[in-house]
Amino acid sequence: MMQYDVVIVGGGISGLSMAFYSAGAGMKTMLLEKNETAGGSFASYEYTMGNKSFWLELGAHTCYSSYASLLGIVEACGMMGEMIPRAKVPFTFLKNEKIHSIVSQLHIAELLMSVPNLFKLKKDGRSVRSYYEKIVGKRNYDEVIRHFFNAVPSQPSDDFPADMMFKSREKRKDVLKNYTFKGGLQSVARAITKQPGIEVKTGSDVVSITRENDGYRLKTASGEEYSAARVALAVPSAVASTLLANVSPDLSAHLGKLRAAEVDTVGVIVRSANVSMKPVAAVISPDDLFFSVVSRDTVPDEHFRGFAFHFQPGVSEKKKKERITEVLGLPMGKIEHIALKANVVPSLRLGHHEWLAKTDSILKSEKGILLTGNYFAGMAIEDCVSRSKSESERLKG
Ligand SMILES: Cc1cc2nc3c(=O)[nH]c(=O)nc-3n(C[C@H](O)[C@H](O)[C@H](O)COP(=O)(O)OP(=O)(O)OC[C@H]3O[C@@H](n4cnc5c(N)ncnc54)[C@H](O)[C@@H]3O)c2cc1C
Repeated sequence: MMQYDVVIVGGGISGLSMAFYSAGAGMKTMLLEKNETAGGSFASYEYTMGNKSFWLELGAHTCYSSYASLLGIVEACGMMGEMIPRAKVPFTFLKNEKIHSIVSQLHIAELLMSVPNLFKLKKDGRSVRSYYEKIVGKRNYDEVIRHFFNAVPSQPSDDFPADMMFKSREKRKDVLKNYTFKGGLQSVARAITKQPGIEVKTGSDVVSITRENDGYRLKTASGEEYSAARVALAVPSAVASTLLANVSPDLSAHLGKLRAAEVDTVGVIVRSANVSMKPVAAVISPDDLFFSVVSRDTVPDEHFRGFAFHFQPGVSEKKKKERITEVLGLPMGKIEHIALKANVVPSLRLGHHEWLAKTDSILKSEKGILLTGNYFAGMAIEDCVSRSKSESERLKG
């Protein structure tokens, strides 16, 4: 039986950052990830063709100068030199099968009349719709802005708490405003797994957690067992709820109240010469089968272009393929490679702050259980890392 100070379940950026802080605090740390690579929604897909290689983000794609906790980890991993700017290509709007700029779609008079509300209205206690339709005007919100907002959590976002979607955080002046890394976000995930004191076991689907003496015993689907003084859950809320059913029924039931959306992502890699679409950062198409198409044109490549289609759940494979070929304007035979990924994104609602306060109060009496993920103060990478940072403080107690 392998014995650890902390075993972390889930190797997305929440689990990876938790591992970083835990190992940094001198704890013997094991991270268990179900998939064959760590990273979760922070993992880039890597494609190799002969001597050419290309990465494509199938989840997160952009980091910002305001991501202070993430930057702390990037610095400690010696990755600052790998940071690169994103090419300035536009976010676009697909209407009647033609690409348009966002500005061309806005009702400018309505926008000018509404925008002063920015200085009067507070986000607290308001939903995304109730706040932003006053800032941009109702028609602009309904016809244009709403679709861009839906693309952020890849689900209808009208009812999200406005203060949990876009946050103003202090920016670091010495780093690029927005950036990625030469090898994609995956390169940061990989660098974290190599930090001293962190052991990572991929292909480890944790299926049960039970109490054992003063600690916990974890079992994986393949029958491996791990023992730990503390267990950290960095998985979607529904998975955390199931895994905690035996060891903390109250926390399990509380986690079970949260909802999440599944995003069916299809990454499409094509030879640059085969696509005529001008370079874009993303394509948003109102009320389409997908919430967004995020492109790799922000980091241009000599040979390939890549597009991640973030589909609604339940769309048939046939329909997805038809829509992909229509949007890219090329037949299936011209698609070089397809990669699939299932992302899980929380469906946050007003009242989440109260949910969060209750979570932390339950955790006060569960000193051996640490909870992190993208369903706490928000779903951005920085929210995940900040949560891991604050949870790791409890390790020291
Ligand atoms: C399409 C998309 C685009 C985004 N773009 C951005 C962006 O540009 N910038 C930004 O800041 N944020 C972005 N986000 C949000 C951000 O990427 C995510 O919220 C964040 O990466 C989630 O990290 P996580 O570790 O909490 O969860 P996940 O990445 O979902 O990781 C959870 C991990 O747990 C593993 N797991 C699940 N069950 C088990 C089990 N039983 N045993 C072991 N392992 C298990 C999963 O395999 C997974 O690897 C985006 C999200 C999506 C979906």
